[in-house]
Parts: sequence; structure tokens; C-alpha cells
Amino acid sequence: MANAEKVEVPVIGMDCMECTQHVNRSISRLPGISHVEVFLTSEKAVIQLDPDLVSEREIHKAIRDAGYEVVPLSEKRLEIPGSEYSKPILTLLGIVFGVVLFVVVVGEWLGLFEVVTQLVPWYIALPLIGLLGYPVFRKVIKAAFQRQIISHTLMSVGVIAACITGEWATAVVLVFFMRVGDYVERFTAERARRAIKDLAAMAPQSARVQGKTGETEIPIGDVKAGDTVIVRPGELIPVDGEVIAGHATIDQASITGEAMPVEAGPGAHVFAATVAQLGSIRVRTAGIGTDTTFGKIIQLVEEAEAHRANVQRVADKFSSYYLPIVLGIAAVTMFIRRDPIATVAVLVVACSCAFALATPIAMLASIGAGAKHGLLIKGGKYLETLAGADVLLIDKTGTLTLGQPQIVKVMVNDKGWHLMDTAAVKTMPPADLEFIHLAAAAERYSEHPLAEAVRHLYEELGFTPAEPDDFRALPGVGVQADVAGKQVVVGLQRLTADLPGDIERITTQLLSQGATLIYVHIDGQLQGVLGAQDTLRPEVPQAIGELLGLGFSHVELLTGDNAYAAADLAKDLKIKYRAELLPEDKIRIVKEYQNQGHTVVMVGDGVNDAPALAQADVGIAMGAAGSDVAIEAAHIALLREDWNLVPDVVRIARRTMRVVKMNIGFTAVYNLLGLTLAAFGYLPPVFAAALQSIPDLGILANSSRLIKQK
Ligand code: ADP
Ligand code: MG
Repeated sequence: MANAEKVEVPVIGMDCMECTQHVNRSISRLPGISHVEVFLTSEKAVIQLDPDLVSEREIHKAIRDAGYEVVPLSEKRLEIPGSEYSKPILTLLGIVFGVVLFVVVVGEWLGLFEVVTQLVPWYIALPLIGLLGYPVFRKVIKAAFQRQIISHTLMSVGVIAACITGEWATAVVLVFFMRVGDYVERFTAERARRAIKDLAAMAPQSARVQGKTGETEIPIGDVKAGDTVIVRPGELIPVDGEVIAGHATIDQASITGEAMPVEAGPGAHVFAATVAQLGSIRVRTAGIGTDTTFGKIIQLVEEAEAHRANVQRVADKFSSYYLPIVLGIAAVTMFIRRDPIATVAVLVVACSCAFALATPIAMLASIGAGAKHGLLIKGGKYLETLAGADVLLIDKTGTLTLGQPQIVKVMVNDKGWHLMDTAAVKTMPPADLEFIHLAAAAERYSEHPLAEAVRHLYEELGFTPAEPDDFRALPGVGVQADVAGKQVVVGLQRLTADLPGDIERITTQLLSQGATLIYVHIDGQLQGVLGAQDTLRPEVPQAIGELLGLGFSHVELLTGDNAYAAADLAKDLKIKYRAELLPEDKIRIVKEYQNQGHTVVMVGDGVNDAPALAQADVGIAMGAAGSDVAIEAAHIALLREDWNLVPDVVRIARRTMRVVKMNIGFTAVYNLLGLTLAAFGYLPPVFAAALQSIPDLGILANSSRLIKQK
């Protein structure tokens, strides 16, 4: 396509998976549309289109023609979530439903129904049917014009059939339960949306910005990068940015799920949608809206529906055959068994989109619950894959370790090689420290944790690193740069031609203590070695123990670091390891396992192992809050640096799949039993109608358990 553009259109009135398909088909028919994704939960259509061929007006019209409404984005944001279904209304509905059900059951049982049926004249029944059934009939007719059969179509045919056979009272009761079913469907969809809406409702709407003439409160959309935003105690931080003045304790639960607030002062990075508790701060804006970590989380959760699980594809396929199958059974009942009453029962009992809902309701419940606890799950697909995964690969630096290594030992060449503690470095003549100066400059723009350690050491000595020229990161190896006319290479020993014997003796000793060595070469000469030590995250042993207990057949540590450091760690954790790997080696290992038929989970920091995470069947990024790269690369992002979330998300995935299977099994049994009983005349139409919301309610109740999980 010559010209492509992505637009988002809010769509209101979709209650069921089949509704999203209607909207999708209706839009897809227009010219210039290359891709359409319609979301039931976030109530929007995301469309790839060629603006030369199709206008947004035409898209709005297509949506309206399909029987749904379009609202302006601004209004959508302001709507109060879940207000449509207040407790009293639901209670009232429940009572009315119960009374009618009781009357119907008792009436049918005593044979009173027959009597009543004869008593209700058509001129009372018909207007009642029309009035009560209007909203549903309207949908059915609109769909019919689009040449689509919806689940209510069958029930409407059932109502007409009941009228034709003169069962007026039955027809009225059918219409009543048809409306109840419609409400249940809408309520179910609304509940699925709730978690996501609750999340989106936390998005900041306005900000207090420092202007030339003083402070002004402006809508969030008008804030620009670089603006200074003022946040008072108890207020929502409206933007992502850096604190430039003031101190506050910040509740970041909306992003990390962590209840303990964190301290933030000048220089700290703060996130939009978190709350400044004690203290007031000024923040220099770095991003607003979708350019914030919170905005990205919302967007990814809203669009998680697009990453469907395989079971859902199967269920969707099945539901598209389901209605024709039911029509077939109805036809057989009518023309072979010649039982019009049973035919009505068949048409009525089948009225349920439960098959299509069984999977997404459960997935969305878990995705929504996850988002509240610092787990960003990008789609049901990943929960499904994770539940069945058998290989777990783990990155070391920044993932198992805190990723905040300290330089603890320094080796310098001053008429022979010396090893000293970092504290002693300060006493060295400045000439001997030049290599640290050059190394810190070369590492100036590297994001690697070891680079941070080198810079930190240099700052400890009271210096600021110089500006490097021609900086180049060597992924998984080190960095290279020109500093003050000298070529500086910092990183693995591999970058050195050969090591003098007296150095090797000392480095081996350091390595056996589990240190990571950073070799500093100036103009091709080894000038010094820095020994860094990183700390294992305290919760790792427990979490890895749990993961081993969850039955992964292979758990392996993959690292670019030296074999000594890796072996030490792997032995303590009782897992296998491979060391001295380049980023492409990690990808190769993931592929090897996949080619052997394994399903691979990779846990990494999401920054320098992003390609391996993307290659894995499920890539999990550690501590991804604030790192766009990590959020982007991972399938599941842990927004809090907490290893316990890894076994947690595995358990959530398995639990979710259990619920999905239960939902599908329950719906299948219900429909099979219902259709059989109805076709053979054992299920009176009014009972069938009363029962038709049971699968929806069952799925909802079963899946609700997932919303409450920790
Ligand atoms: P891991 O696989 O443990 O996350 P990396 O692949 O990031 O490790 O890096 C592998 C090794 O390369 C590190 O242990 C370190 O020795 C070296 N290295 C990489 N980047 C740098 C850097 N910026 N400065 C110094 N050493 C580096
Ligand atoms: Mg790493």
C-alpha cells in the first residue's frame, strides 16, 4: 500500500465476541483498509488504512450501519467506568428474574401454563412482545440487513414460531428471557472490561504547569516535553520525567503493584499515574500520555485481546459453525420429528455466545489482575504458551543479579602488576590512574551495568569523565571509543591478544572469587584490569527453587560473563549454565531448544538480551518499568524488580488455562445436553429460555476467581 495510516475509533455497544466480528467485517468491506482489529474490552477499532482511499467519516458510517455507536475519544475518556450496572438495578433485575422463573417453573409443572396460554389473547400478547423485544429485534434486523445471523436471531425465530403456533404466553416469556439474556451478555462484557477500565481511569487528566506568569492548571494533552510540572502532596504525578526540585515519597503501585512507597529527590525519575504522598516536587516533563510507561502499559493491556490464544481461535471457528448446526438440528426437529414446540426449544436453548466468551473472559481477568500487581501480560497467547512451557533460560547480569556491580579490585601496572582494593586506589599517583580516566570516558554512553560501575568508581575518585569520540558498543563484549586521541577498548579478555603470565596468575585468583573482570586497553596495550562484583537478588534462590518445583525439564543460566562466575552461581541455584556467550549465542540456544520441540521461556533484563527474549516463545523482562526497550521486547514485562513474580506468572498462566478449559467444557456439556433434551421434546421452551444465560453466568463466575488472584 502506497499510503498507510493507523487510526483508532471508539465503538460503543459491543456486548459479545460476535459483535466485534460484525464491526470488523463492516469496516473491512470499505476500500483502502489493510488491517482491522476490534477490541471488545477497550471498545475500540484499530484500523490500518490508506487515507487517500477512505475517510474516517466512511468508517464511522460503516460502524453505525452495523448497529453500533461511535463516540468522540474525549468523551470516552471521561465516562465513569462501570456506572451502567449499579448494584440496586442488578438486584432488582435478579428479583424480577427470580419471580418470573418461579412462576414459569411452577406454572409449567402444574400444567397451568397451558391454561394461561389459552387465556392470553393475541391483542395483549403481541404489543407486549413488540415492546419488550424491540431492542433485541432491532439488533437482529440490523444484522439481517448485513446478512448476518446472530445468536438472538435464533431466539427471534423461536418467538415467531411460538406466535405462529398460537403459544402467546410462551412467546411473551421467551421475549422476557431474551432480554434477560441480553442483559447478562452486556453485564459479562462489562465485567471483562472493568479491570482495564479501572486501570485506564487512573490516567492523569490535567497538570499544574509552571509558566512565566505563575502556575496554571492545563489539560494533560497541552503539556509539552520540557515543561516544569508542580506536584503537591497527595496528587497524581501527571507526566513521566525527572525531579528537579523537592522531595517526596511516591506510591508507585499503579505501575509496579508495590505497596511500599519509594523516596524521590532531585535527579530521580518519576512515572505518570503514580502518587506523590508526603512532600511536593517539581518535575521536568519527559513524556505525556502514550509516551509514558503508564500510557504504554494501558495501550498494551487494551490491545492484549489481539494476541489470541490458540484455544480461542479454535473456539471462534467453532462458534461460527455453531449457529448453522443449531439451525440444522431445528430443521430436523421440525420436518422429521414434526414437533414445533421442541423446535422452538432448540432455537431458544442454543442462544448463547458462551463458546466465544469462554477464553477471552478468563484471559482478560488474569491480564487485568496482573496489570494491577506489576505484571504486564501482552496477550492470552502468552499465558497459554507459558502454561505449557518446559524450558526456562535465564540471563545473569541485571536479571539474577541486581545489575549494580561494584568495582572491588583494581590491577595496575606500575613497574610490574599489582592487585589492590578499590579503597587503596586513591593513594595512587595520578599517572597510574589514567587508564581509569580513559575507561570511564569510553563507558560514558554505555547502558551496561558494568559501565555504570566504572563511571561510579571514577566519580568516587572525584572526577568527571571526558567526552569520548567515535563511541561504539560491542554487544556482549564491551565498548570501544577514542578518548583524547587514544584508542580505548574496555571489556572482555577476548579483546586482548594475549595475557602476560604474571597477570594471568592474579586474574585467575580474582575469577575464582566470582568476580567479573573488565580489561582496559589503551592503543592496543593492556593498561589495567578492574574486578567487579555484583550481588545476587535476595529473593532469587527461593524463586528458582519454586520454578524447579513447577516442573520445567530444563533450567539453564545463559551469560556473557566468565565461566567461573557462572559456575558459582549455577551451583548454588542447582541449575545448569553456559558462559561466555555472545547475544547471538543466546538466540542460537533458544532456537536449538525450539527445534527440539521445546517451548522456551527466557527471562532477561530486556535491554542487551532483547533479541533472545523476542526469539523465545515467551520472553519475560525483569524490572521493565521506565525501560521502553524492555517493555517493547518482552511478551511479559515485570514492572517491579522482584523474582517472585516469575513463579507467580507461571502459576497464573496455568490457573488461567485451567479456568479456560473448565469454561469450554462447561459450555460444551450445557449445549450438548440442552440441545439433546430440547430436540427430543424433554425441555419446554420456557425452561430452555430461562436457562440460556446459565453458561454466560457460569463463565463469568468461574473467571471472576482470576480477577481476585494475587
Ligand atoms: P550477561 O549475559 O551476563 O547479561 P552481557 O552479555 O551483557 O552479560 O555481557 C557479557 C560480558 O561482556 C560482561 O560480563 C562483561 O565482561 C563484558 N561487557 C559487556 N559490556 C561491557 C561494558 N560496557 N563494559 C565492560 N564490559 C562489558
Ligand atoms: Mg544481561
